[in-house]
Order: sequence, then C-alpha cells, then structure tokens
Amino acid sequence: MGESSISTPLDFNKIVKDVEKTLSKYPLCDHCLGRLFAKYGVGLSNRERGFSLKTMLGFKLHDDYSSKRIGEDRLYALAENSGEPLTRMLQKLFTQNVSPRKCFICGGRISDEWLDSLAEAVYEKLREASVTRFVIGVRLSRKLREKELSLIAEAGFTRAESLKNEVKREVGKRVMIKYGLMPDFEKPEATAIVKLDEDLNHKVELVITPVLLKGVYNKRGRNISHVPWFTKQGGRKYPLSIQEYLESRLTIPFKAKKVKIHAAGREDVDARTLGPGRPLVIEIVEPLVRSYDIGNINELIRSDLVEVRVSEPASRRDIELLKQTSRERRKVYRLLVISPTPVSETQLNELEAFFRNVSIQQRTPIRILARKKDVLRVRKVYEVRTRLVTSTSFEALVYCDGGLYVKELVHCDQGRTNPCFASILNTELKPVELDVLYIEH
Ligand SMILES: [Zn+2]
Repeated sequence: MGESSISTPLDFNKIVKDVEKTLSKYPLCDHCLGRLFAKYGVGLSNRERGFSLKTMLGFKLHDDYSSKRIGEDRLYALAENSGEPLTRMLQKLFTQNVSPRKCFICGGRISDEWLDSLAEAVYEKLREASVTRFVIGVRLSRKLREKELSLIAEAGFTRAESLKNEVKREVGKRVMIKYGLMPDFEKPEATAIVKLDEDLNHKVELVITPVLLKGVYNKRGRNISHVPWFTKQGGRKYPLSIQEYLESRLTIPFKAKKVKIHAAGREDVDARTLGPGRPLVIEIVEPLVRSYDIGNINELIRSDLVEVRVSEPASRRDIELLKQTSRERRKVYRLLVISPTPVSETQLNELEAFFRNVSIQQRTPIRILARKKDVLRVRKVYEVRTRLVTSTSFEALVYCDGGLYVKELVHCDQGRTNPCFASILNTELKPVELDVLYIEH
C-alpha cells in the first residue's frame, strides 16, 4: 500500500466506478477481475475479490436502475460481461436469462480446478526428478501477454497483479499444501516453468539447478583444449579437453546430463598453465544428485595432466565475475624463443631494458582472424626477463596485462603487433613453447 492509502480512506465509489468502466468494455471472470484489484484486502483469493466487486457493482446498478438513472440495455450489457451475480439479478427483475460472454483473458478457464491441475502437473515433474525444494516460473504466450497488457493499460490500474504472479503463487501454494514440497527462493533444486498458450493450455518444463563449483586448474601438458575441438571434417583436433576430462569423472557420481566449464580467460591450446593455476567454475548440468563433499570431489578429479582443485560452491555471479575480470588479471608467461641467427646477451639486455612499462598495440592476430573481428587492442608489458639457452635460443618471462597476445609480441605478426621482440632484436623470432606461470587471482 502506498502512502496515499494511509492518509486517504478507500474511495468505494471510485472502485465501483472503475469496475463498471472495465466491465462495460471487457467480459471478465471473477479471477481476472479480482486480479485487477489484487492490492485491495489481504487473505482473499482473486476469485473472491472479483465476485465481491461484481456484487458491489450489482448494488449500484440496481439502485441506478430503480432511480431510472440507467435503462435495461445498460443492465444487460454489464450482466453479459460479468456473469454472476448480475445475471441472477436480471433473472429476478425481468425473468430473463442472460448468457454471459467468455472472459476476455482466460475464456473462463481459470478456476480452482484448473489451478489444481497445474499444481498436479508441476508436482509430477518434480517427483520424477526427486526434487523437494522448488520455485515456479510462468511463461505466457505472446498473445496472452498482449491481451493482459491491453487490459491493464486501458484500466490504468496500479493495483493489479499479473496473471503470471497469480499462477506462480497459487500453484506454488498448492504444491506445498497438497504434496508437501517446499518452495525455496534462495536455493531451489529446480525451477518448474509453467508455459501457458493463448487458450491457457499448459505445459510444464523442469529446469534443474546446476551444481556450481569454484576452483582453479593447471594444465601440465600441451595440446589440451578447454572444450572439445573438432576439425571441419568432424575429426578431433586435440585428444583431450579439460571439460571432457571433468565430465568423465563427474557425470556419473552426480547423475548429471553433462559438465561445463567457465574459466577466467583461456590460454592457447599448446600452452601449459603452471603456477597457482587459472580460476574456473565447474557447472554440473542437470544433476540428480545434489549433495556432495568437496574433499571427495577433489579425490575424484585428481590427475597429473589436468589438475583441477575445487575449493567451494559457486554461484552464477561467480561465473559473471570470472568473465568480467579475466581481462583485468595480469599474467606472467614463460616463452622459449628460437632465432635463425645468433642472439647475444647484450641484445637480450637491450630487450629487457626496452620492455619496461611499454604499451603494445595489437591488431587481432592473423591466426584467429577467421574467428574474431579485426580490432586494435592496447595492452601493457610491465617487465621482461630473459636467459640465453643456446646461441640461437632464449627463454623469456613476460609480465603483462591480461589479454595480450604474447606469441605475437615475440614474432610481430607481420607488423600487426608493435613494438615486438623481433623488431627490437632485428631478427626473425619464433616462440616454440609457451607456459602461463601466473594469473592474478
Ligand atoms: Zn478470466
């Protein structure tokens, strides 16, 4: 209730006039009329509310008619759009039967029995998936939504409840009372989505809440992708992916449909990820088993090649944060670089001296142009340390912003990355090994 309703007493004349105005335009059943005035009263169903409003309208119309302020036509029109108790009143006054028109919104389908049948359909779905804590979602067809909007817009009612909300509330209540399952808005095991078409035929879909786990991973080997990667011919490009590895370990114990991973960025497939690892969230999709022990999970997924360590449960928000912050996380890379001509210690010292807090301009690398838009990206290199391995190869540690294409920093990508190692050393360079050593957490 707004502040105005505290200071001003309820204006019943106004309410009855609004009911009359609405019913002179739209035929409405008790449920659908009551829903337009849902903010009035407490502990009432919309059906009770609607019937009461029609009764009040009956008082007014009877008085208007008796005092000759309105004629028979007006009474008939309103009775046709209202049904009971106005039709009964006309029966009494003129011994004439009026057949009421079908409700503009629901065609007369909404009833306690109809809500019961929805609750039963929801319960069946929840039972099949052994769900005890649920929430209900409602999706109305576009036409139904438009009808409801046109009615509410016309009536200008700020006191209305939406059909969606009524169905959600009434069905949820019934599932709880009749079947003993608990609505849980914080941590539901599943969302039962009731879909209603224009004729209010229903379909129930169950969306099982995924289990989300927060952790980090290390890739101790090369040529391991995040997700399975296939060639155009349908063959495998790489033998192993982190996602498939986790799927092979977690699908069965969780009785899940599949496993997805969400990581804070991703390294090149041929790069290893060493050091403290890269943050990720594991999403167990449609699990039928929902209780777990983190220690047991870590035992299940233990491996030398793909090392994942789960620390705690995660939320959807954690996934968003991972994506948002991946660019902000600074990195340390290790590269093994070879050159066709000898490289000296002095040259490497010059390289280190040059790449101190330098902004690097990079156009999208040629190797990924087919997949990504050609844009200019500016990232910073904070520090480079080098070590000569042989006269034609050296190791480099690069401390830089997230999102820097570090291989291109070495070989220049035909001038698309600037400045770069090759231009400073004035020779062609080839990065042959890449490791991620550190990702800011
Ligand atoms: Zn209706």
